[in-house]
Amino acid sequence: MKLYNSLTRSRDEFTTHTPGRVEMYTCGPTVYHYAHIGNLRTYIMEDVLEKYLRWSGYDVNRVMNITDVGHLTSDGDTGDDKMLKGAKREHKTVMEIAKFYTDAFFADCEKLNIRKPDTVVPATGCIGEFIKVISSLLEKGYAYEAGGNIYFDTSKLEKYYIFNDFAEEDLAVGVREGVEADGNKRNKTDFVLWFTKSKFEDQELKWESPWGLGYPGWHIECSCISMKNNGEYLDLHCGGIDNAFPHHTNEVAQSESYLGHPWCGFWFHVHHLNTDSGKMSKSKGEFLTVSLLEQKGYDPLAYRFFCLQSHYRNSLVFSYENLDNAAAAYSKLVARIARLEDKGSIDGAEYSRLRESFKAAMDNDLNTSLAITALYDVLKSELSGAGKLRLIADFDRVLSLGLIEAAKKLGADKPDGDIPAEVSELLEQRKAARKEKNFALADELRDKIAALGYAVEETREGTKLRKL
Ligand code: AMP
Ligand code: ZN
Repeated sequence: MKLYNSLTRSRDEFTTHTPGRVEMYTCGPTVYHYAHIGNLRTYIMEDVLEKYLRWSGYDVNRVMNITDVGHLTSDGDTGDDKMLKGAKREHKTVMEIAKFYTDAFFADCEKLNIRKPDTVVPATGCIGEFIKVISSLLEKGYAYEAGGNIYFDTSKLEKYYIFNDFAEEDLAVGVREGVEADGNKRNKTDFVLWFTKSKFEDQELKWESPWGLGYPGWHIECSCISMKNNGEYLDLHCGGIDNAFPHHTNEVAQSESYLGHPWCGFWFHVHHLNTDSGKMSKSKGEFLTVSLLEQKGYDPLAYRFFCLQSHYRNSLVFSYENLDNAAAAYSKLVARIARLEDKGSIDGAEYSRLRESFKAAMDNDLNTSLAITALYDVLKSELSGAGKLRLIADFDRVLSLGLIEAAKKLGADKPDGDIPAEVSELLEQRKAARKEKNFALADELRDKIAALGYAVEETREGTKLRKL
């Protein structure tokens, strides 16, 4: 499989330290608020990658952290702890906030068919490990104490900027606009491993350490949680593209200095979901969550379909119009699958040819949009209904669009026999018209559907058809 590797800036053949086994690590959410659908784009694409590796025969061990301490509002080691900010906003304790939003995150993941990683570790559950690694970095001369905090000394590295996609001067924390310089740092790129002195006296969670009562920096969490649960050699590290610097850059600095050998061979970065006014965020514009999409009548899996239609290394622009198109295509796809009959013998050669074209798409740097084309090719093919259903179920082990389940549900909801394609299509157009509050068009479409012999009924479970 060819996969773009941010470390080499090229599409490399994916290899692992132990043949057949993938040690995979994912930066988890900072649980101070709901995840927005941009965050979830990253988790959807990582889920597809994990499932494709399993589909290809790898044994995958996937580890993820939950950031419940240490992630400051600025990546320059200044600003509030995001968790504390969330707790203040809701008049709750940090641990209450962490529990609530961790559960909310996994509930969103479930709706989007994102598998829960094999191991999920909250940062607050790993303090002893952070202290062990920081102590060792101090002993080896890679860290120093200044002004009460422990810093990583980036001047001790042969190479600090390992992801070369960026211009150094654009990145250097401390020289960027809006980032306050920290006078304790020996070099502008140094970063905090352990805080005992922060400007914020009300930091709620603190632990005893050899350097005084304090709390860990954000970057050390991921290094330690991965090294403890994936072992010394990590095959694949994932995250959103904004994590590449400084977070992942700092993770590599710490882990390799601690281990004394190269740490992770492949870095997979998902590009952002943007709105037309820029990067999606929790504080700017409409706060787009899975629940909000549901309230507006969208199936979360239609959002997953929307994400899979574009490549993970292109930024993706969200608009309701784009989502409507994806939702309409998704329902049509499900309707087509629902019309298949599980009958007929399977032509082995045709089955393999179609499966190969799906595999070729995914092997080509996880080209999910081509993989979806391969799925449509199955529907168009000469395979029997039974063959098509089997192959679609096989692809959906990776795509996780719930296609077979949704088609079965649609089949069960069918009034009398199959709904003609023309009627299903008119019904989709009518749903879109209602969403846009174009009731005149919706009425017109209802009449057209009636002329074809079906009554449209609005029920609590949604729109249904009844044979006239
Ligand atoms: P956070 O909860 O802020 O730590 O972010 C969780 C994940 O979402 C990280 O991997 C981020 O890189 C990723 N992320 C943040 N914003 C976006 C966005 N607009 N589009 C896609 N991924 C994002
Ligand atoms: Zn991380």
